[in-house]
Amino acid sequence: MKALEEKILKEGKVYPGNVLKVGSFLNHQIDVSFMEEIGKEFHSLFQNEKITKVLTIETSGIPVACFAAICFGVPVLFAKKHQTKNLSDDCYSTEITSFTHGNTYQARIEKKYLNSDDVVLIIDDFLANGCALEGLMDLIRQAGAKCVGCGIVIEKAFQDGGKRLREQGIRVESLARIAKMNDDGTLEFIKE
Ligand code: 5GP
Repeated sequence: MKALEEKILKEGKVYPGNVLKVGSFLNHQIDVSFMEEIGKEFHSLFQNEKITKVLTIETSGIPVACFAAICFGVPVLFAKKHQTKNLSDDCYSTEITSFTHGNTYQARIEKKYLNSDDVVLIIDDFLANGCALEGLMDLIRQAGAKCVGCGIVIEKAFQDGGKRLREQGIRVESLARIAKMNDDGTLEFIKE
């Protein structure tokens, strides 16, 4: 998506450890009209699927998932990273290793919100090593639901998550694919 690549080049900042910050439109402040375009793009990519639910993980996946879900007319379900009092014990749960924090945590969804009739589109902001997506797919498996694929805003294609998932036959659609992030703060996209 050309407009996304231009926005990343203009507003993104490369940090040590292969971290890209896009706080001006995706990870802190949300550019809602731009996110609306992103949502429409995911809708056009997956419009032939009979999606019943969009699944993401807190925090930054949620706004993107909402803009996609509104196009499909379905709810968004987000996996929670913390066991809180307002989350019941009747949950599907999976362990995920965080790329940005380097720790592992349990991601949970209440069983009542995902079942074997569901056809699920996973949406997330970034794809790096693929642990978040694999965790979400594990939750879908536990529920006996079907996953039609993953919609990603920014894939860091030099990390191996996307390759591993596609090799397993999973449909992964990334709107911007970064080939390389350089020490001088510049980055390059994969030319399609
Ligand atoms: P993965 O599980 O694929 O290694 O990492 C995906 C998750 O880590 C995403 O949900 C995202 O929140 C976070 N993440 C990975 N790489 C980056 C990055 O370069 N920048 C930001 N802002 N988040 C990232």
